[in-house]
Amino acid sequence: VTFGLPFQLDHVHAYLVPTSGGGWMAVDTGLGLPGVRERWEAELGGRQLDRIFVTHYHPDHIGGAAELADLTGAAVLEGRLDYEQAVDAWGRAGFRSEPYMRAHGYPEAVIAAIDRHHEALTQLVHFVEEPEHVEAGATLDGWSVLAVPGHADGHLALLRDGVMIGGDVLLAGITPNISLWPHSRRDTLRAFLDTLDLICELRPRIVLPGHNEPIADPARRAAETREHHELRLAAALDALSSEPRSGYDVSLTLFPAELDPPARRMATGETLAHLEYLVDEGAVVRSEDGGRIAYSTTE
Ligand SMILES: [Zn+2]
Repeated sequence: VTFGLPFQLDHVHAYLVPTSGGGWMAVDTGLGLPGVRERWEAELGGRQLDRIFVTHYHPDHIGGAAELADLTGAAVLEGRLDYEQAVDAWGRAGFRSEPYMRAHGYPEAVIAAIDRHHEALTQLVHFVEEPEHVEAGATLDGWSVLAVPGHADGHLALLRDGVMIGGDVLLAGITPNISLWPHSRRDTLRAFLDTLDLICELRPRIVLPGHNEPIADPARRAAETREHHELRLAAALDALSSEPRSGYDVSLTLFPAELDPPARRMATGETLAHLEYLVDEGAVVRSEDGGRIAYSTTE
């Protein structure tokens, strides 16, 4: 079930999967744009929905959950950590990301624009409070639930008979955004590279992704994606010298195109994930001065 999105990435795929009881399971829900409920109603065409599985809390995957649950009465299943991060990102008492952005050198005008965008986006994210928690290792109608952290800390995927419904774990044509977020684990890139290794090990026949075309050779795409990050790690190291630079500043070297503030935020998050990986490798030094974090080479 493909929904249009008002972003540069202009669509997202949700899936309907038959269940053993003669009903259906939805995997992801689209963004909570006006009309999402009607769209699901038309797609379901009277089919009984037994459950709604959320791969991760990003707006285009979780945003229509409340509408779909209300329409069908189906329970929403989501990982515990992922739910906590959904509340953090979209809840009324959620985190403020300004301190994180200031610490990493974002200009004030960019912070203000990102805050406005986040506020508007929050209006389109209708997640369900108190979902049923599901964890890696569980089985749903023969589908194994897998932890695939990296793009989101609590990202889950489903695997059955060589078919992986992957959310944003592996994408064709683009690579999933791997960022350091204010509430994320610090080693998101390490976690993601381990997830790519897991895909190579499991060797699914096909990955049905959240964006773009299905991936017919997942192990190969996982290897290509790993190679991409190795190149980006080298580029991040190249962008540094003994003179400390903020993550925002380094992002201007790694992503030199002019980006709108929300895209610059993703570019900076991705840059920070690579810099923190290099810190853990001992190749880069993180320093803090008056609440400002900066990175430099070891010599
Ligand atoms: Zn996502």
